[in-house]
Amino acid sequence: SSFEELGLSKEILDGLLAMNFKKPSKIQEKALPLMIRDPPRNMIAQSQSGTGKTAAFVLTVLSRVDFKKPEQPQALLLAPSRELARQIQQVIKTIGRFCNNLIVEAAIPGSIPRGTGVRASIVVGTPGTVVDLIRRRQFDVSQLKVLVIDEADNMLDQQGMGEQSLRVKNMLPKDTQILLFSATFPDNVMNYARRFADNANEIKL
Ligand code: AMP
Repeated sequence: SSFEELGLSKEILDGLLAMNFKKPSKIQEKALPLMIRDPPRNMIAQSQSGTGKTAAFVLTVLSRVDFKKPEQPQALLLAPSRELARQIQQVIKTIGRFCNNLIVEAAIPGSIPRGTGVRASIVVGTPGTVVDLIRRRQFDVSQLKVLVIDEADNMLDQQGMGEQSLRVKNMLPKDTQILLFSATFPDNVMNYARRFADNANEIKL
């Protein structure tokens, strides 16, 4: 299969070309058609790092954003550390380099000056900071279309960040598409994931 067959925009295909991604990796081949399809459906995907999972959810996010509304948040990606959030932000900027008016902002401690607020179509953040911004009305989530959670085994762990992640989810529109990615889904996390992302497609590599 090819990226062209997925119906991605010319701008996104050019971004992939510039990165020298010639064809979808296995996880991309399996997950992308299910994630991009309309009406949107939730996804729980288990895939080791190094398999191309970042590009899989980044391509989905880029395909769902309306770049005519560059300052309206439409996609939110959550990661357990600022370093990973920054890495994901960089991948979005790189694959999306030909998408006009692409604004992707990091919502991590100290990244958004008080009073400014989020003015981006795509936001990549850590859950505590994101909860904070939404509560202070610095981050308008009313038009959000997709929520991605990377390293879901950490992010949905009820002893860890699970509570923060759930807080974020509960503040989003009810029909937000939810994509959960992780290298592992221990049984307790999988049970929680299925409630968090109901009626999800499930993929395991
Ligand atoms: P990840 O699983 O997200 O950590 O990605 C692993 C590596 O694979 C990264 O360095 C990506 O740049 C690369 N990669 C992702 N998708 C593709 C693809 N379709 N073709 C070639 N390389 C890829």
